Parts: sequence; C-alpha cells; structure tokens
Amino acid sequence: MDKNFQEEQFRGMIKFTPPLSNQRYQFVKDLVEKYKPKKVADLGCADCKLLWMLKFCSCIEVLVGLDSCESVMKEKMHKLSPLPVDYLQPTERSLTVTLYHGSVAHEDPCMLGFDMVTCIELIEHLEESELKKFPEVVFGFMAPSIVVISTPNFEFNTLLPGLMLFRHPDHKFEWNRAQFQSWALETARHYNYLVEFTGVGHAPRGMENVGFCTQIGVFVRKYPQTSGFAQSEKSSKTAYKMVFKAVYPSLKDEKYLQNTLVGEVISTAQIIKQCLLKHLMSEDEECNHSTTERKAQLQPCFSKDIRKLAAEKSLESFVNGNVVYVPLKTIFSFPQVNRLCGTLERLRKLIAGQVTLSSDGYALMLSTEYENEEN
Ligand code: SAH
Repeated sequence: MDKNFQEEQFRGMIKFTPPLSNQRYQFVKDLVEKYKPKKVADLGCADCKLLWMLKFCSCIEVLVGLDSCESVMKEKMHKLSPLPVDYLQPTERSLTVTLYHGSVAHEDPCMLGFDMVTCIELIEHLEESELKKFPEVVFGFMAPSIVVISTPNFEFNTLLPGLMLFRHPDHKFEWNRAQFQSWALETARHYNYLVEFTGVGHAPRGMENVGFCTQIGVFVRKYPQTSGFAQSEKSSKTAYKMVFKAVYPSLKDEKYLQNTLVGEVISTAQIIKQCLLKHLMSEDEECNHSTTERKAQLQPCFSKDIRKLAAEKSLESFVNGNVVYVPLKTIFSFPQVNRLCGTLERLRKLIAGQVTLSSDGYALMLSTEYENEEN
C-alpha cells in the first residue's frame, strides 16, 4: 500500500497521511524551493494556511492572498503578522504579506508582476461565468512565470464511497483527467504557456489506473518577463479591497538596521572592554603578587571565535580614568558588525547620536564603573 495512503477498511474510508491538503501545500512549497519566486499570489486562499507556510520560504518577498469570502480570510489572518522574534532578529530579506477581498473573475493591477500564482482547489468552486473569465485574468492579465492549478480528479471518486456526487457541496464540477487536461492544454496554448500534469494522493496498489486524488497542472510561461512599462500599460481600475497588510521588519529598512547595529556595536564594545579590564587586572595581580580571585567574567553568550578576537583586539582600546575607549575601527573589524554596515563611514553615520563617542568621533566610550561595582 502507498506510503501516503491508509485504507480504513471497516468504515470503507480512505485516509491520506499526511492529510491531502498538506500534501498539496507541500507540493507548492517544493515548487517554491525549486523556482525561488520573489512574488507569490495564492488565489482562493481561504483561511491563509498555504500563505502561512509560504511566509517561511526565504526567497519570497511579496506574498498576496485573494479570496471572494472576506470572513474566511479574516479567521486566521493574524497568523500572518510578524512575531516578536521577527523584530528582535530582523533578517536581510523584506517581506510584505497582503490579503485582498475580490474575485478571480476580475482584474486588479495589484496582481501584476508576480512570479508564481497558485490556485489550489479553486477552479471547481467557480461559477460557469467566472471560470470563463479565469484564464484571461490569470494567464492573460497577471501572466506570472508559473501558475499552479489543482483540482479534484473525478475518476478517483469511485474510491471514496458515500459521496453524493462531488466531494464538497460548493463544487460546481469535478473533472476527470481528460477534461482537466484538455482545458489546461487549450489554456496553455492560447496564452503561450507549457503545462505539465501531476498530482498528489496516490490510489491504493492495483487501483492506480484512476490517477491521483488531486490532479495538478503546473504551467510555465514560454515568453520572458513582461517589462514594467508593458505591465503599466495593462493596469486597469482597482477591483479588490485590501483587508490585511503586514510589513515584516527587515535590515533593508534603515530603522531596523540601525537598531540591530547599535545593539551589536554596544555588545561587541562590552566584550572588548571586559577583555581589556581582565588583562589589566591580571597585570596588576602579577605586579602586586595579589591573591585576589576577582576576574572580569566574559559574557558566555558570545561564540568562542568572538571571545578570542575580542581578547586579541582588546589592547587597541585604552582606559582613561573611569572611561574605556574602544576605537570604532576595532569594533568594525568584528564580522557581526561589518556584515551589517559594510564600511566604517557607514557605521559611524548609523550609530551617530545613539551611543557615546569620543570628542573626535573615533572611539566608543564606556564606563568602567560596572566592573568596579562588581569588584
Ligand atoms: N486554496 C484553499 C481553499 C480552497 S476552497 C485550500 O487549498 O484549502 C476554495 C476557496 O476559493 C474558498 O475559500 C472560496 O471562498 C474561494 N473562491 C470561490 N470563488 C472565488 C472567486 N471567484 N474568487 C476568489 N476566490 C474564490
């Protein structure tokens, strides 16, 4: 029996493991990993589960969901908001997630410029008039590089006992493989795409002739990306209503870059200071033959490499009275700092006004007092 498939013989039911919907989402995730699209739209996104899974794909920078039912989208849309950890550790990539209320039968310029459009178990919910308009909207107007369409395979229904006619009361039709493939091939031919067919949800051994439970068409555009100018020529009036928008914190945004950089600069300077004080104290002890045990403890949260580098570089800093002066050049030589700002000048510019600098602006000033209190 197939690994994704268990038959509950007594109840005459077929159960997929993992659930079939998860297998469909995983199929999309795998395609995203393969093609690395930056802008992805999920049409008929319902409760946003696929969008939620896709937000973890690091190649995606723009994620959009569309559904004609506002309430179903709103149920769990909060899950698409950034988490506290996203603010604490902003990443390099930018990510914006937007949800729109609207129909795939209508064009809206907010859907232009996408690399991938997914329509998972959507088309069978469309009225005849909507289905007629759907190819022009998705393949003609949106025209992404890749379109993924999944829909039930009617032939598999013989293995699903107890069905009235279709798998869901809102389904307007369920196509067999020949019906889906002829519609898809004709759509691909008309809009200059290539289409390949596959599916998820294997039939039990010996019954494979019915095909997959869910049939999938993956369409790849044959012509190159339309230019921005040609895209703007297409723009029509807006038809969708925005119901949610989340902009994730990113290091591309100067505000988050500055916060992160200031944090790194201060903690790097602190560890350098501790190394310096520890060094000076051990020198004192050697001179005085002191038995004092006190040693500045190095913050254990830093990696071994950073602590080693701090010990090596600490002598570039010096103490004057109660103040430790750590040159910015020294701080900049630490990888966790220079990867954020790139140049010493940029470092100086970004931290200006956020930390205390020497009068010439070339060293960060830290008080020795905390160490003295510990003493
Ligand atoms: N893609 C989801 C939901 C499938 S159910 C999943 O895989 O679980 C189909 C969804 O399409 C429903 O949420 C329904 O509200 C939506 N839908 C139906 N007609 C639509 C239309 N014309 N435009 C946009 N969404 C539509």
